[in-house]
Amino acid sequence: MPGQVVRVQRRERLGLAERLYLPMIFVGFAVTSRHFFRNLWGYITGNVTSFVVQYPEQRVDYADAFRGHPVLVQLENGKPKCVACGLCEFACPTDCITILPGEIEDSIERYPEVFDIDMSRCMFCGLCEEACPEEAIVMSREVELATLDRAGSWFHKEDLLRTEEQLGRRVGFLRDGYSR
Ligand code: SF4
Ligand code: SF4
Repeated sequence: MPGQVVRVQRRERLGLAERLYLPMIFVGFAVTSRHFFRNLWGYITGNVTSFVVQYPEQRVDYADAFRGHPVLVQLENGKPKCVACGLCEFACPTDCITILPGEIEDSIERYPEVFDIDMSRCMFCGLCEEACPEEAIVMSREVELATLDRAGSWFHKEDLLRTEEQLGRRVGFLRDGYSR
C-alpha cells in the first residue's frame, strides 16, 4: 500500500551518538540516500507504485493523530452529541464556528439549533476538539473541501454529523491521550 503509517518509538533519553550530534547527521544522510536510490530504481524500472500515490484511486493511510476538518459526533438517535455550550466557538481562533442554542422541552439540556462551520476559514488546528467537554466535536480524516462557490465551504449541522463508528480511530486516539 502507498503511504503507510510508520510508528516511531522516540526514546526519552538520548544515546551517546545522538548527543554527539555529528554521527546522527550521517545517519540522516544514509536514510535520505536510501530513499533517493530506492525511488530512482523504481523510476528506472517503471515501478513507480512503490513511491507514487495514484490519487484519488489510492489514498494515503493517515496516522491516527491526523487532523482533517472538524465534524460533529452523532448519537444513536441521530441527534448531535453537542450540548451547545459554546466552548468550541469561543476557543476557535479564526471565529469560524456559529452556534445558535435551542432548549430541549422539559429538560435543562440544550442542543444546537444551528451549528455551522465556515471551512474556508478553518485551519484544522483542533482547538475546538480540545475545548469540547462532551467529545462532541472531533477532527475527522476528511480533507477534500473543493467547492464551486463560496457558499459551498459553509458546512451546516446536517453536513457535519458523523457516527462515532466513523470517527473510531480519532476518538480512540483522543482517549489514549487522556489516559496517558
Ligand atoms: S479546527 Fe481550529 S479553526 Fe477549525 S473550527 Fe476548530 S478551532 Fe476553529
Ligand atoms: S464545545 Fe462541544 S458541546 Fe460545546 S458547543 Fe462545541 S461541540 Fe457542542
